[in-house]
Amino acid sequence: MWLVIVLLGLVSIVSGEYFENYYNEIDIDDELADMKTRNALQNPWQRWPNTQMYYRLSSELSDEEKSNVRSALAVFNEQTCLQFEEVEASAPRRYVYYKKSPNMCGTRVGYNPVPLLGGSSHDVVLTGHCLSKAGIIQHETLHVLGLYHEQSRHDRDDHVVIDYDNIPRKYWSQFMAMSDSATTTYDVPYDFESVMHYPKNAFAKDPSKPTIRALVDGAAVEREMGQVLAPSEGDLFKVRQMYNC
Ligand SMILES: [Zn+2]
Repeated sequence: MWLVIVLLGLVSIVSGEYFENYYNEIDIDDELADMKTRNALQNPWQRWPNTQMYYRLSSELSDEEKSNVRSALAVFNEQTCLQFEEVEASAPRRYVYYKKSPNMCGTRVGYNPVPLLGGSSHDVVLTGHCLSKAGIIQHETLHVLGLYHEQSRHDRDDHVVIDYDNIPRKYWSQFMAMSDSATTTYDVPYDFESVMHYPKNAFAKDPSKPTIRALVDGAAVEREMGQVLAPSEGDLFKVRQMYNC
């Protein structure tokens, strides 16, 4: 059984298996979730060893879904120094493997320097819904590259307020801020347009009320945040910084 963990933070990379259920409501084992979250904070920074990336598409994906992934990744090829090249089958080199899931979308954050039973693939699992949105495919790919969620950056309390009363206890760990020793913002201003930002009512008990409000002049204000269209300029800037583009 897959462990389902939501990924938190901004630019940092960890070891271990981390999955998110941001786009799908799936029960999380609370104890394991807490343990994994702590591990995330203790683990060192890891990034992919070079800018040539390889990816593979599972045969479970429809032609349209394959096309969506290729188009989503082309944005990185065009706007960063990373080059995603498709490979057909299991190769001796490390590659990102886009697979289909009936009920979850997620991946591990960052490069795993010591692949365990997973072999040479870094799996990204996506539902049909997630495969239909370029921004979601890019969101998961940014996790692969080492980005956490925008609202978990270490300075987020200067920019947003989390309403824990409207969030089930088992999801509280998913709103944790990262430590500033484990992550960096690359001095990018807080980015409500980031494709890595949760929407304002993420994980809400009552979705008509926000779980995240923006801080404006000391007051908590409801506003739109996050999107599933494309990486923001800030997202792309961070990728370029991480990979020395
Ligand atoms: Zn995510």
